[in-house]
Amino acid sequence: MSTTLILRILLVEDDRLDAGLLFRMLNEQISHHTEVTHVERMSEAEKYLAGHAVDIILLDLGLPDARGVQAIQQAHRTAPHIPLVVLTGMDNESLATQVLQEGAQDHLIKGQFNARGLMRAMGYAIERKALEEALFAEKERAQVTLNSIGDAVACTDTLGNITFLNLVAEQMTGWSCQEAASRPMPEVFHILDATSRETIPNPMEMAIGRNRTMHLPSNCVLIRRDGFEIPIEDCVAPIRNREGQPAGAVIVFRDATAARATAREIHHLAQHDFLTGLPNRALLNDRIGQAIIFAPRRTGKIAVLFLDLDGFKHINDTLGHQVGDKLLQSIAQRLLTCIRASDTVSRHGGDEFIVLLSEVAHSDDIAVAARRILQAVSEVHAIDHYEVHLTVSIGVCVYPDDGQDTQSLIKNADTAMYQAKENGRHSYQFFKPSMNTWAEERQSIEESLRVALERREFALHYQPMINLTTGKITGAEALLRWTHPTRGLIAPMKFIPVAEDNGLILPIGVWVLREACRQARAWMDSGLSLPTMAVNVSGLEFRNESFLEGVFAILEDTGLDPRSLELELNESVLLKHTRSTESVLRSLNARGVHLAIDDFGTGYSSLSYLNKFPIDTLKIDHSFIHQIGAVSDNTTIVKAVIGLARSFNLRVVAEGVETQEELAFLRGHLCDEAQGQYFSQPVPPCQFATLLQTEAAVRELPHE
Ligand code: C2E
Ligand code: MG
Ligand code: MG
Repeated sequence: MSTTLILRILLVEDDRLDAGLLFRMLNEQISHHTEVTHVERMSEAEKYLAGHAVDIILLDLGLPDARGVQAIQQAHRTAPHIPLVVLTGMDNESLATQVLQEGAQDHLIKGQFNARGLMRAMGYAIERKALEEALFAEKERAQVTLNSIGDAVACTDTLGNITFLNLVAEQMTGWSCQEAASRPMPEVFHILDATSRETIPNPMEMAIGRNRTMHLPSNCVLIRRDGFEIPIEDCVAPIRNREGQPAGAVIVFRDATAARATAREIHHLAQHDFLTGLPNRALLNDRIGQAIIFAPRRTGKIAVLFLDLDGFKHINDTLGHQVGDKLLQSIAQRLLTCIRASDTVSRHGGDEFIVLLSEVAHSDDIAVAARRILQAVSEVHAIDHYEVHLTVSIGVCVYPDDGQDTQSLIKNADTAMYQAKENGRHSYQFFKPSMNTWAEERQSIEESLRVALERREFALHYQPMINLTTGKITGAEALLRWTHPTRGLIAPMKFIPVAEDNGLILPIGVWVLREACRQARAWMDSGLSLPTMAVNVSGLEFRNESFLEGVFAILEDTGLDPRSLELELNESVLLKHTRSTESVLRSLNARGVHLAIDDFGTGYSSLSYLNKFPIDTLKIDHSFIHQIGAVSDNTTIVKAVIGLARSFNLRVVAEGVETQEELAFLRGHLCDEAQGQYFSQPVPPCQFATLLQTEAAVRELPHE
């Protein structure tokens, strides 16, 4: 107590003698400044306390209007935060404890204390009250905190009996704190292992026994009082006394329903394809690994079927990605109907699926499954208001014959799938070791193609187009030739599809166009007459954003008259993205660039584009020309195309003319022009120049 402070004392004492005695004692205390207010009744005390601040109350228990315990209760009610020292006339043990229970901080027996004793008692009482208040505030804060957190908290004593449950713990266990108090922990907090259904050893006992924090097992469920099960997680910690010895335990736990659902969801997502819900590569790899392990015990063989949809990109491009996505989902469902429960259908990415047949009894079963898949996929898919037709190519690889591990099984099935595509799609193909040579060749072509441009391994050959009335050269078709440093000449049909797959066709196409235009201009400058230079353009080039710009820039740079250039496009190119196709074709047409449809008749049967687009020329594919005079002698298509060209007012060129008979037929049916070996092979530029100069190599047209 600081000496500078005045201690304000309220003395409640009806006995004037006793009061006088106390006054004297207090006055003797020169080290303390005291200010004593004396009242004789409880009612007066109450009145005084209502209007004045007091530091301590000295209370006699024999007041006229309040006696004994009742007096303490009354004083405590009136001034609950003010320290209270009780004055009694007798030394009574039971009274002494009662006094403290009722909220007084101390009691003094009249006649048995002196001034010093009085001051010390008051000092202690004030300190004790301050501690009690602080403790109460602390307890309150802890209680509020524990009740407002989202986690459940339960405490036990060292014997494992419950001492506290917060609100969340009450809700989760179904026990109120009061009901639970003093009950053994396992009765209130009944937990099981969700899988084994066995009771989990009391975690509190373990925390206390080992005197360290323990975690609940990961798969733990709490059985609520009404029997309802709640998955829970978290930890149990011992509560220690000052000596560090366990004095009980606290368990903090929470409802793990949502967390476990999320964990399950994440686990599922990590192993499944989001679009189709099928297992993804990771899960498939696992399943193949498992199948390999179990194969010897079962049938000994497993099969991996690599599926790639035929023409899916085209559908995606023309009908849109949403339809494409729904189609993939529809295919996923169909595939699931083709397999047994022990098999796996997975999506490998894009339009590729892998089917794992994990129990193959006979090799024939694989072919049966493959045929079932071909059939199921090819049946019409009703997507939105479209009826989509689609086929699939399948490569099959069998364990252990064609591969001993997951990676080689998938790789070889992929290789076999390529072969199925080569064989005309909508088919399945079993893997053969020789296919690897083919796949390696493709790989090596791809690698060498990447450096072919800079190594100047490309050249253009030119094939004349002949007017069938005059016999004169009306144009040249530029055809790309690649001389590989070790393999020699590689045919365009071998490397152009590879260049289209990896995008290298773009820089190659630019080179071809520039070279052909430069050459045409050079011939014209040297006085040779060449009305048309025809250049093949692949779909990928045509759909490239900078295609149009590139063509115009090349025409500008080389100075070739746009009217001398003809671009040859495939039918399939015109059917994709019709809007942008139309605008690109119109821009070319506006500049005077001519457009030809190459290999006419081999692609789609829709002829609507003949009207829609500014097309100048149709080129009849040589496969139709070779029907002329063949055993089957089917000339219907050739005649129809010539008629069609005529009615649309288009120029028509027959490709691949090899024989006199073909030529005669074409002339007889008024085909405008022709090209082919009959006249000249594609030849290097110097030879072509000679052709132009002399037209000597061009055979005389026979007289009709
Ligand atoms: P295409 O545009 O239909 O070219 C005609 C193909 O027929 C050429 O094959 C040509 O050599 C061949 N041919 C010529 N005369 C005869 C004949 O009498 N009988 C037969 N059966 N065939 C004959 P090539 O040069 O192997 O080119 C094949 C295809 O590669 C071309 O077909 C074209 O689609 C593509 N291609 C060639 N050069 C290029 C190019 O620079 N860019 C692009 N994108 N594609 C090209
Ligand atoms: Mg062509
Ligand atoms: Mg052609």
